[in-house]
Amino acid sequence: MTIPMRDEVKRQIDALERDGTRPLIICDVDEVVVHFVKSLEDHLDEHDCWLDKSSFALNGNIRLKSTNEAVPTHRVGELLFGCFDAKTHIMDMIDGAADALRRLEDHTEIIMLTNLPERYLDQRVENLRGHGLHYPVVANSGHKGPAVEALINGSDHATFFIDDSPNNITSVQEWCPRAHLVHFIQDQHFARHVTPIEDVALRTDNWTDTHRYIDDLVSGQPRE
Ligand SMILES: [Mg+2]
Repeated sequence: MTIPMRDEVKRQIDALERDGTRPLIICDVDEVVVHFVKSLEDHLDEHDCWLDKSSFALNGNIRLKSTNEAVPTHRVGELLFGCFDAKTHIMDMIDGAADALRRLEDHTEIIMLTNLPERYLDQRVENLRGHGLHYPVVANSGHKGPAVEALINGSDHATFFIDDSPNNITSVQEWCPRAHLVHFIQDQHFARHVTPIEDVALRTDNWTDTHRYIDDLVSGQPRE
């Protein structure tokens, strides 16, 4: 069973100034809106390591360039947090993400729900604002179902949840069965390791399809 939502996440959600009158898009950030893996690979390269994408995990897949040996778990954590320190404020956008979200914002309420230590939240907000994305950002930890349920808060409006993590998709499936789930995996190296999840509304690797799917439902005008 998923653990309950942490107090610090509830505090952030309670502090949001919500619209509540339009369909809601709850959107992940890493690997959905910004290139986290590319940033991590850049950071690893600067520290004489590389990321082996032969499976969908970090532990065991960060290797030394010199020997190809996997670095120990404690070093994985250091490199990961080092990447957040060095790169969170300058991560590149995934193709089409900013344009799609800006085109959807007139008809929807958009909230970014990111699994990130809260101390990096200001850098994440700065990064997104630099690309024209001025939406509220909530720093979550753990599976996202409880936070999404709290964000929906009994609303009857359609809710869309976009994430690359299978664990987050199934968590929201469990907690919020009415949410429209978009399983977004743009990195083909990782996509091949992730089996399709039943009953997602859309599995995709791009924002063109994501925008079309959401826009069709919120505008009520399906297109070819
Ligand atoms: Mg992600």
